Amino acid sequence: MGIRVRSTLLDALEWVEYAFQPAGEAPPDDAAYGHQRHSATVVHDDSNVPPKRCESDGVIGLGVRPVAVYTADCLPVLIADRQHRRVAAVHAGLKGTLAGVLERAVERLCETGTTPAHLCVAIGPAIAPCCYELSEEMLTPIAQSLSGSLTHCWHREQPRNSLAVRPQANATQNGIWFNLPQLATEKLIQAGVPSASIENVGYCTYCMAEPGSSYRRNTHFNSGYQSRYSWIRRRGS
Ligand SMILES: [Zn+2]
Repeated sequence: MGIRVRSTLLDALEWVEYAFQPAGEAPPDDAAYGHQRHSATVVHDDSNVPPKRCESDGVIGLGVRPVAVYTADCLPVLIADRQHRRVAAVHAGLKGTLAGVLERAVERLCETGTTPAHLCVAIGPAIAPCCYELSEEMLTPIAQSLSGSLTHCWHREQPRNSLAVRPQANATQNGIWFNLPQLATEKLIQAGVPSASIENVGYCTYCMAEPGSSYRRNTHFNSGYQSRYSWIRRRGS
């Protein structure tokens, strides 16, 4: 069984129940989650009961039903609205993050009456800059689309991860090391979420998590991978 990854910010909310489950473990039976497409589409939970009824990369939980996402290197992002006690689960890979899925989730939560200042965000296990290499060809259009503070979301030198439990990814493209959790954090701050209300658990799927957690590692070693479900809900019945 994998390590139970927790968020200090979400643990402080007594009305919230959530999990970043280990890879391969089934989600709660009643969880709502979309057919994920790396898009910026965010829907309410009733649109994805049963699961995958529609295409979406973010699900807002209006009641007590758990809302979930499945990932294998992309960011699982769980959001709690302290004002109205609503929640959201967002699948944010590089493509979806650049497409604005996180800003869209904040916007949709605010449609129900809250403000970004009331949101608490936890960024769960995902590939970290210690193992996420992008080629220069991939970076160029990304760099052109980003500005200001977003340009420090990558490193020329591969960062060392002192918490790695297996070897970090080897450089294969003479590229850069991209910090996707940092990009997500900056996007959320731009959307109005206070930086103190955003937590990155800092748990790399490639070099730290249980075996079978990383899509990228599977492409390097054909080692297999399974989806990691992350979910959040308001406590109650
Ligand atoms: Zn790593």
